[in-house]
Amino acid sequence: MDERDENSNRKTFEMLSEESGLAIAVVDNHPREVYVSNNNSICRTLNPDGKFSPACAEYCGKALEMTAQSGGTVAFECHAGLECRAVPVKNPNTPLVAIVGRTFVRSDNYRRATQRSMKGDWRKLAPAELFDNVLMSASPATLDRTARQVEELIANARSQKKAITVKTDAPIRTTPKEISNVVERFNREIRRDTPPTGEPEQIRVEQVVEAIPEAPPAPVVAAPVAERRSPQTQAWRSFFGSLLKSDYSTACETILDFVGDRFALKSLVWLDRHDNRLENTVAIGDMKNRKIRLGIAADDHRLIEAAESEIPLSLGERSGTTKGVRTMNLFPIGVGDEISAAIAVLDTLDFAVKTQIVKVCRSLAPQIEILRLRFEVKEGEALTLAVKRFGQNLKKIDSDDFWLRLLQSSAEMMRSERASLLIHNDRSEKLDVKAVVGVKEWTKNNGEIGGRVARLVFDKNKAVAVADVTKTGLPPANPERQYKTKSFMSCPISIGDRAIGVMNFTDKPGGETFNRSSIDLFQAIAPQLAVAIDRASFKHKAGELAQISVTDSLTGLLNRRYIEARLAEEIKRSNRHGFPMSFMMLDVDHFKSYNDEFGHPAGDEALKLVGAVIRDTLRGADVAARFGGEEFSILLPQTTAEEALAIGERIRHNIEHANFQHRLVTVSIGVASCSAELCVSADLVSAADQALYESKRRGRNRVLSFEEIGGRRNV
Ligand code: GH3
Ligand code: MG
Ligand code: MG
Repeated sequence: MDERDENSNRKTFEMLSEESGLAIAVVDNHPREVYVSNNNSICRTLNPDGKFSPACAEYCGKALEMTAQSGGTVAFECHAGLECRAVPVKNPNTPLVAIVGRTFVRSDNYRRATQRSMKGDWRKLAPAELFDNVLMSASPATLDRTARQVEELIANARSQKKAITVKTDAPIRTTPKEISNVVERFNREIRRDTPPTGEPEQIRVEQVVEAIPEAPPAPVVAAPVAERRSPQTQAWRSFFGSLLKSDYSTACETILDFVGDRFALKSLVWLDRHDNRLENTVAIGDMKNRKIRLGIAADDHRLIEAAESEIPLSLGERSGTTKGVRTMNLFPIGVGDEISAAIAVLDTLDFAVKTQIVKVCRSLAPQIEILRLRFEVKEGEALTLAVKRFGQNLKKIDSDDFWLRLLQSSAEMMRSERASLLIHNDRSEKLDVKAVVGVKEWTKNNGEIGGRVARLVFDKNKAVAVADVTKTGLPPANPERQYKTKSFMSCPISIGDRAIGVMNFTDKPGGETFNRSSIDLFQAIAPQLAVAIDRASFKHKAGELAQISVTDSLTGLLNRRYIEARLAEEIKRSNRHGFPMSFMMLDVDHFKSYNDEFGHPAGDEALKLVGAVIRDTLRGADVAARFGGEEFSILLPQTTAEEALAIGERIRHNIEHANFQHRLVTVSIGVASCSAELCVSADLVSAADQALYESKRRGRNRVLSFEEIGGRRNV
């Protein structure tokens, strides 16, 4: 291929990738990317300089080999869950392969990608970069079509030995019949336009010759864009253009407004999937402030069939009024066979309008998914940060006003003006009110707090969020309490399977309601809360008997008895909820010689300092104990092996740099983690111990995890 041909092919690939919304990457036999057009930001982030990361080398890196073996185009889905077609570019001197696609076609794959970025091996990559230009296609058909076009281009280029013209000024038809064409075209343009860098918009309307046979074959200098756009086209354009620049909920609203205006509809509702239900989030017209309860699940085959067959699902509205039964048309929105949202229309619709709305929904689905994905990643990031901050706050709380400070921090986190904290009293079997926030006149004898709901929540060990208490059948609250809103949330705090207390929240400052995501947020801080409360209660109980029973008198840390009991409970919690957790064993290096050289009392001082450094380095929810002699152990709830290693390293470093009186003191650390797999405490202690032993063997003053030393749990 001479330079001119190659340049021409590049241009053509560029156009094809823009047209299809797919990436086209040309890879040589080194293997590395020679050039890429419209690259998926995930691929760009994983292979920043065009050379393949080990994981990508197994897929895109082997594409040339795969096509050579098969003698033609090969389809594959890579480790990142992206669908690709590898088309051989049979070039005698430099064998090349064109990889077409790099797009998600299955929603579970992109969900997995978000999980990887939030909690998995992509956590270190900046989400903004990773999800900057995620490609998503409604179906694999686009991939096959584009791959065929690439095949043809390559074949033509070789036979004619010249550039291929694929660009033309096709007229844009904007009659309602052509809606889907326009929508699809703009859909593609939006993808191209959505600026990672906020560049000014630049729209070109180009089409592949094949698609419009009657169009002139020669390249035409494009006329100024504005001249070629009808007002209707511009309206579509600006609508789609605005979508990907807004956030998810604004986009939903914009779509409803747009569909409402476009088809003169009055009753529209946007439904979002939560678990397996579709629940209304936004509504316009007379559906505002009305709750819709759908009688079918999000994965109901009727909905999936409706999405596939391009006709809405008609449901009869159950209504107590004399107005009779209205029909609701439900237009599912999703990628692949996973429905993630739907638009419900209660107006009467004729067939043509139904078809057009179906097409709008279908064209919008990838954009909606991208926005959802961005939203999820952003939420995940914000949550991680908030939980971290919460943990730091907990650490600062000392014993005096422990309960109140704990509740205040939680109420702040939940954005709630009123809250109460009730702790189970093992002797009286009652819930004792430990603290309240946001109530002026309050005495401990106020029997009403927790009387209505908290007991139930405690007994069932299950959180509730209520949007409107007047619709629950609960006895009304005492009017003297002057609640601002009708929404509240009540959450149990538990250690393992054992509920130890309840936190209640009500009155959000803006009058918003508590919902499932409020519960999710609480679940994220619950483990830290539980640890803090349990430790306080345990200390308190122990204090009544003898403080010495849970605390180590030399270092002030907890003792082995406590940590062993807690470890069993924390493992149960980890297994049940799939939370990660880690355990660490730490042993002072060559401590015998420290004692021998400087005396036992000096040794004791050194141990005190080791304890203090550990305490200062840890986060609020971590539990540190003196396991015995010069050995310490640390329980790290909700902590992955990777995080535990980082924390271990910080402890090791801080001890090495601490000011010991006589000489440098170092420690060796072993880390073991249990995640979703089954894991029992004896195994975890022994695994951490084995890793510690290996740290000693490899020269001390180091941190190793059980995984790193090639250990396997439960074998
Ligand atoms: P290694 O690096 O292999 O751990 O060497 P080591 O010398 O620390 O190991 P070893 O287990 O042989 O010795 C531990 C020593 O720790 C024995 C004892 O003198 C000292 N030790 C244990 N508990 C205490 C304590 O409470 N106070 C003091 N001062 N020393 C203690
Ligand atoms: Mg030892
Ligand atoms: Mg030692």
